[in-house]
Amino acid sequence: MSKKVLVLGEVREGSLRNVSFEAIAAAKQIADGGEVVGVLIGDGIASVASELVAYGADRVVTVEHPHLKAYTSDGFGQAFMAIAEQENPEAIVFGHTALGKDLSPKIASKLQSGLISDVTEIEGAGDTALFIRPIYSGKAFEKVKVKDGIVFVTIRPNNIAPLVKDESRTGSVAAISVDITNLRTIIKEVVRKSTAGVDLSEAKVVVAGGRGVKSEEGFAPLKELANVLGGAVGASRGACDADYCDYSLQIGQTGKVVTPDLYIAAGISGAIQHLAGMSNSKVIVAINKDPEANIFKVADYGIVGDLFEVIPLLIEEFKALKVNA
Ligand code: FAD
Repeated sequence: MSKKVLVLGEVREGSLRNVSFEAIAAAKQIADGGEVVGVLIGDGIASVASELVAYGADRVVTVEHPHLKAYTSDGFGQAFMAIAEQENPEAIVFGHTALGKDLSPKIASKLQSGLISDVTEIEGAGDTALFIRPIYSGKAFEKVKVKDGIVFVTIRPNNIAPLVKDESRTGSVAAISVDITNLRTIIKEVVRKSTAGVDLSEAKVVVAGGRGVKSEEGFAPLKELANVLGGAVGASRGACDADYCDYSLQIGQTGKVVTPDLYIAAGISGAIQHLAGMSNSKVIVAINKDPEANIFKVADYGIVGDLFEVIPLLIEEFKALKVNA
């Protein structure tokens, strides 16, 4: 049976995050010919509604309010619930992002639905869809089927391909007014540690450094390589604990989970807790002085050597390839 699916579009600094387009592709599959309704919550966000349509949403519903300029679970919860009550969806898709991870359990409990989080693949469509998600820190995968009630899933960024953007697609955009009340917090200002660079959880290329990088300055060549490849810099907890970089870069069981097309691990031993955050990357390149390092067990390409000698060579080669391309 076809379904009506609500998809939460995430806007950051005026632009939709890629995971929103991936969520629409997932929603199309779940809808199985039914309707996909994009949801935008914020302040001054209606301008991006047409992009959700171009990526496959049949129509878009927006809630705008000055108190929704920055995310709070109270404010976004009230706005999303107002839309859910109006639309009565059979399925809901969020990105498995910091926002999605925070908001989805709250909405699921209010709707008395289940929640399938961190989905990396969907097999089948509509009522027979099977949702595949990693378990035991990525060591195994389970397939989950929803027997009844609302199908509510969060999808891991960079795993489900978005549909091809088609600017000629049309779909209505309707604003609904929600009285946002009794907020326990109102965010006045967001000060980001770093505004530059590619978002780590959505990056197609990640260059990650570990304790082998040895210092904050040691991250400079990794940043340059990431820059040349249009990617983001990440780190092991070892590097973060040693104060070589900020914890916002930490990848792993207690950090971010990434699935880029290319993951370059430099000076990282490959502890199980680190692998939990990156082992599903499409291609893994490991650079380590120790040929016995565990990271080589998950690497597609291994370079046994000193990262301070190898990375400058890679930078040189990639720069030359880009010039000749
Ligand atoms: P090390 O294990 O010290 O490895 C450094 C590597 O660098 C070595 O393999 C060495 O051969 C290599 N090296 C040294 N110099 C060079 C050089 N010049 N060139 C090339 N290679 C060099 N860790 C995470 O990463 N993410 C997590 O989310 C996480 N969560 C955890 C949760 C719990 C509950 C616990 C207990 C641990 C967690 N850890 C996590 C920590 C994890 O167990 C490891 O301690 C950590 O990943 C090690 O970091 P590392 O590989 O950078 O350091």
